[in-house]
Amino acid sequence: MTDRPESIPRYDFPAVEKKWQARWEESGAHKTDISRPGKKYYCLVMFSYPSGDRLHVGHWYNYGPTDTLARFMRMQGFNVFEPQGFDAFGLPAENFAIKHGRHPKDFTDQNTAYMEKQLRAIGAMYDWSRKVDTSKPDYYKWTQWIFLKLLEKGLAYRKNAPVNWCPSCSTVLANEQVEDGRCERCGSEVTHRDLEQWFFKITAYADRLLAGHAKIQWPEKTIAMQREWIGRSEGSELVFGVEGKPGTDIRVFTTRADTLFGCTYMVLAPEHPLVAALTAPARKADVDAYVEKSRKATEIERTSLEREKTGVPIGATAVNPVNGEKVPIWIADYVIASYGTGAVMAVPAHDARDGAFARTYGLPIRRVIRPADAATPYPADEAFVDDGILHDSGAFDGLDSATARKKITESLAAKKQGRLTINYRLRDWLLSRQRYWGAPIPIVYCAACGIVPVPEKDLPVELPYEIDLRNAEKGKSPLASVPSFVNTTCPKCGKPARREVDTMDTFVDSAWYYLRYPSSDRSDVAFDKKAADAWCPVDQYVGGSEHACKHLLYSRFITMVLHDLGYLSFEEPFQRLFHQGTITRGGAKMSKSKHNVVNPDAFVEKYGADVFRMYLMYMGTYEGGGDWSDDGIAGIERFQLRLWRLAWATRDFARPGRGEAGGSELKELRYRLHYTIQKVTEDTASFAFNTAIARMFELLGALEDYWRAKGEKADGAFLAEAIDAFVKLVSPFAPHLGEELFELRGGTGTVFDSGWPKFDPKALVLDEVEYVIQVNGKVRSKATFAASATADQVKEAALRHPRVIEHLDGKQPKNVIVVPKRLVNVVV
Ligand SMILES: [Zn+2]
Ligand SMILES: [Zn+2]
Repeated sequence: MTDRPESIPRYDFPAVEKKWQARWEESGAHKTDISRPGKKYYCLVMFSYPSGDRLHVGHWYNYGPTDTLARFMRMQGFNVFEPQGFDAFGLPAENFAIKHGRHPKDFTDQNTAYMEKQLRAIGAMYDWSRKVDTSKPDYYKWTQWIFLKLLEKGLAYRKNAPVNWCPSCSTVLANEQVEDGRCERCGSEVTHRDLEQWFFKITAYADRLLAGHAKIQWPEKTIAMQREWIGRSEGSELVFGVEGKPGTDIRVFTTRADTLFGCTYMVLAPEHPLVAALTAPARKADVDAYVEKSRKATEIERTSLEREKTGVPIGATAVNPVNGEKVPIWIADYVIASYGTGAVMAVPAHDARDGAFARTYGLPIRRVIRPADAATPYPADEAFVDDGILHDSGAFDGLDSATARKKITESLAAKKQGRLTINYRLRDWLLSRQRYWGAPIPIVYCAACGIVPVPEKDLPVELPYEIDLRNAEKGKSPLASVPSFVNTTCPKCGKPARREVDTMDTFVDSAWYYLRYPSSDRSDVAFDKKAADAWCPVDQYVGGSEHACKHLLYSRFITMVLHDLGYLSFEEPFQRLFHQGTITRGGAKMSKSKHNVVNPDAFVEKYGADVFRMYLMYMGTYEGGGDWSDDGIAGIERFQLRLWRLAWATRDFARPGRGEAGGSELKELRYRLHYTIQKVTEDTASFAFNTAIARMFELLGALEDYWRAKGEKADGAFLAEAIDAFVKLVSPFAPHLGEELFELRGGTGTVFDSGWPKFDPKALVLDEVEYVIQVNGKVRSKATFAASATADQVKEAALRHPRVIEHLDGKQPKNVIVVPKRLVNVVV
């Protein structure tokens, strides 16, 4: 052994990490000159919101590996911009503050300061000079400005709308925040209310949002989720009359006008505006009770396929426009008022949900579509839901479904009882929140002038600090309890007026934050058009897939609107998107109740940030995530210490001109080195961090073996080439260690501006021979070996081959026959 352990200093990671973080800060190594984009690369992670838990392992898993990509891109010669900030407004901070008698602002400021400290410890190249905090007036001023721009364009409007209401949190809840009829935060039973609220007209952009998918490189699954969420379907709007009520029409939207002759009843949503007027007096008590009950269930529950379908008849009759047939009208809560028209023509023979409902209530089932292919069975006891051929459908008999949909709708259009139309599942974006900790909606209500927008010059409408949240009147926006905020003068007529007291959904704050980073130093504009056009779209965005139909959809919408208003030249915010997976422990999702949460701070203290982040990248594929292991992280620690020791031990010898020039035995080692450079380059670029690290493990082992065998006689030129390349390869993964070793090797400045090693294609060509690998005479695999490999080397390698191990199944081989340059046969 010649690695002279006595002379190798201990790797003092706390000192090394501190040293490099301080140097980066002093030298401004991570500051991006926004005015010179050059070959720009905007790398962004979803910013975090401050909660009582601060930075958890999920944040680290999002941020550490993404920074590795950012550092790698910088070493490829890109001008990388990697900013960081806080989505600081919102319910978690407000609820926490109320519970602990704190002010949300104080709580939030304290938390973001702590989280910034934690984020700095990751060793990421965040440009902290461009930090964004959505709860600061210099940010939300521009959130309010965006609201005004949408209002001007007719894309913001106010209307009375039923909402999910949590009486305990005294706020409106989004459908996603309701679980089994209860508030996801506090568990209280959710009720419903009608409130005047502000909406953004995202539905006007439904087709654009769909078309834009072709321009972005996003996970196919995420695009599919958005497509489903937007829910575009081409179909027909048909008009049913009501018996005994001339002039009353019920409009239904259907994608299956071809099944119209099979309609045997009609269903209205319990909230349908015609229910009260059409209900027969004798049915009123039952209908009222049903309507009341259905208001308690959430939309998600109501449309769940598993849920038992219930309903009641209202004692009225609808008239089928195609044949004048009379069918009973029911109400049932599986029909939603805001989807389509809130009315459904029920065809139990050809729709599974209608079929189940008809069987429950003994309603008639009439079949009108048979399979086009006679061989396909035409089931009598379940719904046949595919397209087919019409029968029992009057003049339309014998037509295929697609033709019939068109013909039937056209025939009704002539009588003004039908038209071809497009329907969307997407609803407008409800942005009013009856909460304090958000951006005030910049609107004033005047008795004379009505709804008056706050003029741009008066922005921001500042959130008052003085407020007693615990004693604010329940069920009202807390801001309503602050007279100095509420009472103002009308910007139009100057008479006394009242301010809007609701605040904006925090998804408005986060819909445009990526635009603010390059212009965070500008107080006169939300963002500078030149800077935005130069740096955006974001080249690589990384964050959780749970945001697919909220943040990721809202950002696209706001960006398209700003584009249409002439503020931006592009219309998609995030060119490439990646979703990291989830870290589990003991195979289970981490949660406080299971006591299996990994606290990053404790592990960073024990192992350092380099080991912690590199282990996160090693434990599984980045999109799949992995299972945390306390032993696994120790393996990464050993790897980094071994690399440290090798670099130290060889520091005097890894120089051109030292040792003895290596001969043919170096060829395989150079192959290993350049193969590793190639694989680490490809894998890191495609987020395959775990396999990149595995290749580095192999290379380290091979270099250690060489150094052990040769010692001071090792080829100095080769050692220098190998160790200098290795230091660069490892730097994006373990940036502090990378800098320290770069300095040890005589590098000046930062390793991240020193370029990336290139692999030598010539080194990747070996004199190789392909061997057939047999077990008991049966061919099991093939493998290539160096032409110079001895029989013993081939034998040894064959026994390590996974296919051989598999077929040995734990048994000892009796004999191994090697036919040089041809085959190897393992006999059991
Ligand atoms: Zn609640
Ligand atoms: Zn006025």
